[in-house]
Amino acid sequence: MLHSAIKKVSQYIFGFILGLTFLLIFEKVHAQKVFSYGSKPKLIVGIVVDQMRYDYLYRFYSKFGNGGFKKLMSGGFNNRNTLYPYIPTATGPGHACIYSGSIPALDGIIDNEWYSRQSKKIMYCVSDSMVQSVGGSPNAGMMSPQNLLVSTVTDQLRLSNNFQSKVIGISQKDRASILPAGHTANAAYWLDGETGNFISSTYYLKTLPDWVQDFNSKGKAGLYLSQDWNTVFDISKYTESDPDFEPYESNLPGEKSPVFPHQLSKIPRKGFDLIRSTPFGNDLTKDFAISALEKENMGHSSFTDFLAISFSSTDYVGHTFGPNSIEVEDTYIRLDKNIEEILNYLDKNIGNRNYLIFLTADHGVAPTVGYSQTHNLPAGAVNGGDFTHLISDFLGKTFGNSALLERFSNDQIYLNQELVNSLGLNEDLIFQKLKTFLLSQKGVSNLINLNHIQNNNIETDLLNRIKNGYYAKRSGDFQVLLEPNWLFGRAQGANHGTGYHYDTHVPLLWYGWRIKPGEETFKMSSVADIAPTLSSFLQIEEPNGSTGKVLEIPLWPIL
Ligand SMILES: [Zn+2]
Repeated sequence: MLHSAIKKVSQYIFGFILGLTFLLIFEKVHAQKVFSYGSKPKLIVGIVVDQMRYDYLYRFYSKFGNGGFKKLMSGGFNNRNTLYPYIPTATGPGHACIYSGSIPALDGIIDNEWYSRQSKKIMYCVSDSMVQSVGGSPNAGMMSPQNLLVSTVTDQLRLSNNFQSKVIGISQKDRASILPAGHTANAAYWLDGETGNFISSTYYLKTLPDWVQDFNSKGKAGLYLSQDWNTVFDISKYTESDPDFEPYESNLPGEKSPVFPHQLSKIPRKGFDLIRSTPFGNDLTKDFAISALEKENMGHSSFTDFLAISFSSTDYVGHTFGPNSIEVEDTYIRLDKNIEEILNYLDKNIGNRNYLIFLTADHGVAPTVGYSQTHNLPAGAVNGGDFTHLISDFLGKTFGNSALLERFSNDQIYLNQELVNSLGLNEDLIFQKLKTFLLSQKGVSNLINLNHIQNNNIETDLLNRIKNGYYAKRSGDFQVLLEPNWLFGRAQGANHGTGYHYDTHVPLLWYGWRIKPGEETFKMSSVADIAPTLSSFLQIEEPNGSTGKVLEIPLWPIL
């Protein structure tokens, strides 16, 4: 009895040692494979969804098919707590941050547009008077990344191999195509609202390639706009959203009521800009992106290619109808199909292990003011024009000259510095008096002195976001902070731009190549981490203004 027990135990021990030996040998082989160099994806597809809050992944989950968002979530890696590290949360700064790993304080993209003290005019983030339009109306094409002061991961990829990787940016919005593609891209294409064509600028090309001209000649924007926009599922199934008609929704340009069906062919229009505010703008973007992949033969050379796609219709629809509208939900259900189509194309033509996808957003969005108020949440809208008058009147009454306010732009007060000096005024005194006055206004949470940022006693994360958004050559003197769910603008429709969570928390999904399925549930990550993480995957230098860290994303061994 005792003998057989000893025998059994020794058998177990022998088995255990044998198993351990196998495990160690396997791990050694495994480790060698993990650490062998040179495995890079043949193609990276960056997908930015304009105005996508992270919770949309979950709110609309039951309506998604198995081949789009769900496939990225279940088959890829999900950084669930990814936030923007600065304000303002807007499209220009967002795309700059995603692709450069940088912040406005370094990359210079302090908003979609900003007031220039030098020219006394508004500067648009990608405007460039030195270049011409290629393939479209003149004004729509005078664009380049000249205002972006740092390199992007797409630049670094091109720099890493003597410009042999192909990099292309695509979006309806010029800034969402140009900033991701960087300074050294082969091309960036965006939609010309006047002609409905995808165009570029002489910064990249002298003429549009044949395939782009062929695509444009099909007149797809017009074809899409000849259809009505109906809900994909029966409208009664949209239980995740508000009823179809709410007074705090805004209307499509030219339409009288925010309800389905949106009879697009009956809406009077000049040009094709209307497509932007419908999910068909995303369909068009997807069609053009698949054409680019195919006709540019992307992902088939020995160097990694990079396609940067940004879906903008989600933003236009979101602004118009608000995040709780059936229109927004339906737009995401349709975008899910767009993503599925792109994934199917890539699986078939590139192969699942050869391409890497990441998906994120350039900013989130606040609930519509009326929606919040209806549900007893504190919220409000401040008229920007009235607010500007309020400031200049106060400065006039208190310091004798209303022209002390040079501009109120992007929630920032630009003082007329020459006037401050010539009148012998103390800027700190102006700040103190103005702050006391503005704090008496409804919805104003704080006034921040941008010239002495550390002296402002506010919550640390918010202070850091303001600091990260400040670039001395382009920013104003004082920043007005509104309370959560308050905005400058109208009570109808929705907006973004703040440092609050609804604007800063966005999805971050990784899929394909060597990405192991999983999710980071606890650790916080920054959108600025995306570019350095990609740089690490690609074994290239990080973009020069990168402030992010490399994310811990588990990878399969190289087989
Ligand atoms: Zn927007």
